[in-house]
Amino acid sequence: MTTAQEDRTTDDLKALAEQAGRDLEDASALEILQWAVDTFGKGFCVTSSMEDAVVAHLASRVQKGVDVVFLDTGYHFPETIGTRDAVEAVMDVNVITLTPRQTVAEQDAEYGPKLHDRDPDLCCRLRKVQPLERGLKNYAAWATGLRRDESETRANTPVVGWDEKRQKVKISPIARWTQDDVDDYVAEHGVLTNPLLMDGYTSVGCAPCTRRVLEGEDARAGRWAGRAKTECGLHG
Ligand code: SF4
Repeated sequence: MTTAQEDRTTDDLKALAEQAGRDLEDASALEILQWAVDTFGKGFCVTSSMEDAVVAHLASRVQKGVDVVFLDTGYHFPETIGTRDAVEAVMDVNVITLTPRQTVAEQDAEYGPKLHDRDPDLCCRLRKVQPLERGLKNYAAWATGLRRDESETRANTPVVGWDEKRQKVKISPIARWTQDDVDDYVAEHGVLTNPLLMDGYTSVGCAPCTRRVLEGEDARAGRWAGRAKTECGLHG
């Protein structure tokens, strides 16, 4: 059986993504994911930071055993690894953990300690961007949990778009959801969430680059706080 990525050229995929972005703008998250599974089959995966398992849960309702890709940077909070383990244990998904080429100790030996403080863009490239690029090689399309209400940089996120950097279809089935929509879905379906969300964190990344948010700050204000950096390079 041929896969979606073997059947279609890059131009085909790009046109398909842009058309779907228009057609599915008002569709529900489940309808968007159903389109992704129907269109790409095994060439589709969900990526999860294990902040919560909302998109993984939605996707597993459409496709049992769906691939859920998690980036283990080596710098995660224990709660994040625990959430990954719990998702693997109780949900009908196939968790795939990607790791950087170097351990933190190997990176420290080559670049010096605490690269995240001195050059977070390089650290993110080595520990997030490159592993994801390797991990996505066999997929034509990937889903994320990006939402427009999270920050200004995410305000124009399409529900389906073209990931120019990776030449893949990028699907954000809950782009139009608000935090209340997420909270309602979690409560209704008993979805696993990272315990840090109950402890003052509204966005959970690597431990050295994440702090609790203050009142009135946007949900991602605790990421790389005090720096101009707002994204890790996975989404821009
Ligand atoms: S978020 Fe921080 S620790 Fe994690 S990869 Fe990026 S710079 Fe490194």
